[in-house]
Amino acid sequence: MADGPAAILRGCVAALTEARDGAPSDIREAIVGVGISSPGPVDPWRGMVLQTPNMGPGFNDVPIAARVGGAFGLPAFLDRDANVAALGEMAFGAARGCSDFIYLTVSTGVGGSIVSEGRIFHGPDGTAGELGHTPVAMEGLCGCGAVGHLEAFLGGAAMARTARQAVAEGRSPYLIAVAEEEGIDAIDAKDIAEGEDSGDETCHAILERGRRAFAVACVGFVDALNPTRIVVGGSISDAQGARLLYPARAEVAATAFKMPRSRVQIVQAELGADVGLAGCHPLVIARLGDPAWRGGRPTSISAQNG
Ligand SMILES: [Zn+2]
Repeated sequence: MADGPAAILRGCVAALTEARDGAPSDIREAIVGVGISSPGPVDPWRGMVLQTPNMGPGFNDVPIAARVGGAFGLPAFLDRDANVAALGEMAFGAARGCSDFIYLTVSTGVGGSIVSEGRIFHGPDGTAGELGHTPVAMEGLCGCGAVGHLEAFLGGAAMARTARQAVAEGRSPYLIAVAEEEGIDAIDAKDIAEGEDSGDETCHAILERGRRAFAVACVGFVDALNPTRIVVGGSISDAQGARLLYPARAEVAATAFKMPRSRVQIVQAELGADVGLAGCHPLVIARLGDPAWRGGRPTSISAQNG
């Protein structure tokens, strides 16, 4: 990634070429397009990655879909990783049969996606659905630089920051032992979870705060969006399972609006780490035949009339 966008694009094209050349001929001949899942922010209509610090330097306004599609002579479609994951869960996983749901992924950060009437809700700039940056408090620095976001309490990187602070203050016997053995920078969410299991109070408090933030955020999502399901994936959610989901179900049942809370189900995602690959298939199939996905952002009805 340090080599910049051109090197990443070359790597993508090389990996896809290898996959295509290794496939049986009937599958090779049936390939109709390329789907791309990318960290955000992206412009899904132009297939561009905008400014993505997580991808290394130089990733500004890179037309990935056009470059990769062009290399294969195929149409290519790109969307933000959590949006592609949501399409994957809708086609093959925990959101099957569901056309109004939200998807959350809890790992290093907290990603999100809103699906309404079977389509990703993008908003006019394509940036909608960043549910991990929903405010749940008035303090707590988020990775995005703002304060009080869900990710600041539930994201793995944020919890690790809190854990390192606890070590510096001499508060967690379990994490202090981890820091002495592996170095303080090696502490991650997995160590915090293991610390909780071994009875370390500070580790328990860090995770409990994350679960509490998740629960109150879910109440907001249910009240604001009336989803049929909240599908939760990502490595931290996969590891925590019911420990994360149960308090959210209880909080929603106790405090969300009556009609949407009686409908919503908060469930574990089903597709694991390959959800992005799974989502690229419905991404291409849904957009290939839809004229709204050719030639830039669709014009809204009000803009046409104005
Ligand atoms: Zn944030």
